[in-house]
Amino acid sequence: MLTAASAVAGLALPAGVTFAQASQAGSLPSQGGNVGHYRFRVGDISATVLSDGLIGGPPRVYASDAPEAELQDVLTRAFLPTDRMTLNLNTLLIETNGRRILLEAGAGQTMGPQGGRIFQNLAAIGLRPEDIDVVVVSHTHPDHVGNLRTADGGKAFPRATVFAPRADWDFFVRNDPDLSYMPVPEEFRRNFAAAITRSVEAVADGIVLYEAGADIVPGLTTLPAFGHTPGMANFLVQSGNDQLLLTADLAYHPVVNVDRPWMPGPDRDKETALASRRRIFDMAAADRLLVLGFHYPFPGLGRMLKTDSGYAWVPVNWQF
Ligand SMILES: [Zn+2]
Repeated sequence: MLTAASAVAGLALPAGVTFAQASQAGSLPSQGGNVGHYRFRVGDISATVLSDGLIGGPPRVYASDAPEAELQDVLTRAFLPTDRMTLNLNTLLIETNGRRILLEAGAGQTMGPQGGRIFQNLAAIGLRPEDIDVVVVSHTHPDHVGNLRTADGGKAFPRATVFAPRADWDFFVRNDPDLSYMPVPEEFRRNFAAAITRSVEAVADGIVLYEAGADIVPGLTTLPAFGHTPGMANFLVQSGNDQLLLTADLAYHPVVNVDRPWMPGPDRDKETALASRRRIFDMAAADRLLVLGFHYPFPGLGRMLKTDSGYAWVPVNWQF
């Protein structure tokens, strides 16, 4: 239940978010659309998926080795457009031991106008950006770090300690990254690299660099999931007998990267990424883990099934 004061405070926008941005990002809820948050529990930990909206691109980008006819057929049978794939941005807020921890910051407007809804969705559950104590990103691609910066260059989550994987920081932030492996136009690569540097500028001072495998707080562990980027981690949230696995960008969309084994084009080292995907999907299937896919259809929760030919994604039932 919200007190009047916190409900009012919850409507406050982060510094630097203009009214135009806010009304654009929030246009769906204000017009009576569907909610962008989804609550559940992992043992004693309260968890809330907070949508940051959508990004997308040509399906070929996300299924780089798919035979063209098969790709078209798979998309058609899934009742999806064949010319554009839409991806969700499912950030997760966990509340444990009096701390609010955001897993992935989301894209903001770095990869198109449909991102940046996280602030409205935080407000919808009565929270402000300054209520976030910790932000942990799985890797430093713009759609995972874009919201760290306000429009005027400040910290969007002003009180938060930000954790990022060290190998990604070295590759993308400390050095000029060679992105020639990405199957996108040169201009896109330049903007992509610039969006990363720009997004993390405000938090660079005080950033905590972690090695995948490290614990962040009790109940939140990182797992190595290298390949998509040099340092990408997965997250395991644990409380009592309950576990939740966050697979970050091991797969973009279950239709092409889980139910079919096709490789995401943005994977920097495709063989290492494939090995990570198999190792972690095998673990998820064997342990029947609850899984959250960052880019899967909202709210992105389900389980991995091992099949004769690979894997199948089984979404969980909606809980009211
Ligand atoms: Zn991503």
